[in-house]
Amino acid sequence: MKIIDKIYINGAFVTPEGTETFDLISPVNQEVLGKVALGNEADTLKAIAAAKAAFKTFSQTTREERIGYLERMYAAIENRKDDMINAMVQEYGGILQFAKASFENSLSGIAANIAVLKDFAFEKQVGSATVLLDPVGVVGIITPWNASNSFIANKLSTAIAAGCTAVIKPSEMSAIQTQVMMEALHAAGLPAGVFNIVNGLGPVVGATLTKSPDISKISFTGSTVVGKSIAKEGADTVKRVTLELGGKSPNILLEDANLEEAIPLSVAAAFMNNGQACIAASRLLAPASRMEEVKALLRKTVANVKVGNPADPDTQVGPMVSKKQFERVQGYIRTGLAEGATLLAGGLGQPAGLEAGNFVQPTVFVDVNNNMRIAREEIFGPVLSVIPYHTIDEAIAIANDTTYGLAAYVQGQDLAQAKKVAARLEAGRVAINGFKHDPMAPFGGFKQSGVGREFGVYGLEEYLEPKTILS
Ligand code: NAD
Repeated sequence: MKIIDKIYINGAFVTPEGTETFDLISPVNQEVLGKVALGNEADTLKAIAAAKAAFKTFSQTTREERIGYLERMYAAIENRKDDMINAMVQEYGGILQFAKASFENSLSGIAANIAVLKDFAFEKQVGSATVLLDPVGVVGIITPWNASNSFIANKLSTAIAAGCTAVIKPSEMSAIQTQVMMEALHAAGLPAGVFNIVNGLGPVVGATLTKSPDISKISFTGSTVVGKSIAKEGADTVKRVTLELGGKSPNILLEDANLEEAIPLSVAAAFMNNGQACIAASRLLAPASRMEEVKALLRKTVANVKVGNPADPDTQVGPMVSKKQFERVQGYIRTGLAEGATLLAGGLGQPAGLEAGNFVQPTVFVDVNNNMRIAREEIFGPVLSVIPYHTIDEAIAIANDTTYGLAAYVQGQDLAQAKKVAARLEAGRVAINGFKHDPMAPFGGFKQSGVGREFGVYGLEEYLEPKTILS
């Protein structure tokens, strides 16, 4: 059993003052994997003070110095590749393939920040003024459990690129993964106080960051409910916020889609990261004229999805992160049945032989209309809702009829037509014919999926404050 009893403040591993602990439970078999000591308000205030002191000098570092720190950060994380991947599989239940991809995203996010920093103009002429882009200050980084270390790597490397310092509060459920990241970042030899990590609960450590007048900005990834509370609580100190929140992403199958390819891609996009992905393509919009073909291919594809031990290289769907998340997903399957949707695959209960863990049957509902809760609310599990449409205008209207706007997907053989549809969708990222990621391109949500953007130049600008000098 792993005992995680240190947090990281001012360049050192320290014992938190907080006395509460949290059990880390295996999602595969409910075994207690470890125990993490939780930091409290006093611990958080110490971390903020360290980051504030470090900001004085770190904000004055040159571009070349920061590139050097980012290169060291990259190398130190790369050095812990296997540990990072294994911790994600063991603690979170991420399937091996996804854990590897998530690890690569950690590195590519840092590499993109290095590339951006190399060319970025921190001084610009605008009209008669010189505009200097200053680091915004100390940043509070708050992350969820579904790809913990890649969020930390991207947010912290952006903060460093900007000349900011940070206090990081990862999900308490990710403490084993956090421990590996803490050790890697320590090994990178960044100046003391530039990053600080406090394990702890959201309403304690997270809330202290949100309220602190010494934190200039919060970069948050997590649920829309908590994101809204951060925006409200942060208003008293006029916090800058970047909020990466939930989604209910539409996936439009155009009339000319090659379904033999498009349906397996649609299933993979819906069930990615065990369905616990903010960008999961959880609403499949299919032409009514091709619904029978769609259903037949979905039935066949889902029957072959392998659910099971996330450490097995051929597993496609692993367990839900926690018993609570399992119950939440079961609740939505019950809701779908009660709302009158038709179950095409999966359903309630665990797959046979996997009763010990938080495993959900990959589930597909058809005959869904967009007013049902299973079409409107983020389920965060392997549950796909299939909605028929008759015209492309109707498909676009259904796709946009959501409070969210994080991602969208379009599939069709006529690329020009697919791009026209993409241009009409209200989402921060639209992927055509399959899942795609580019760490130089902005990522973030329209509507209640968030505020601001991450990655590339847009991401860096969120950590900078323009200062106009007129002479
Ligand atoms: P969550 O909102 O419950 O928690 C996220 C983080 O916020 C955790 O570290 C938590 O401890 C902290 N927190 C909780 N209450 C807080 C408070 N009052 N003040 C400050 N911090 C607080 O989310 P989760 O359950 O860990 O993750 C799943 C959610 O994250 C889903 O809704 C998903 O869509 C979203 N998500 C979004 C993105 C994106 O990029 N848009 C990416 C991944 C996950």
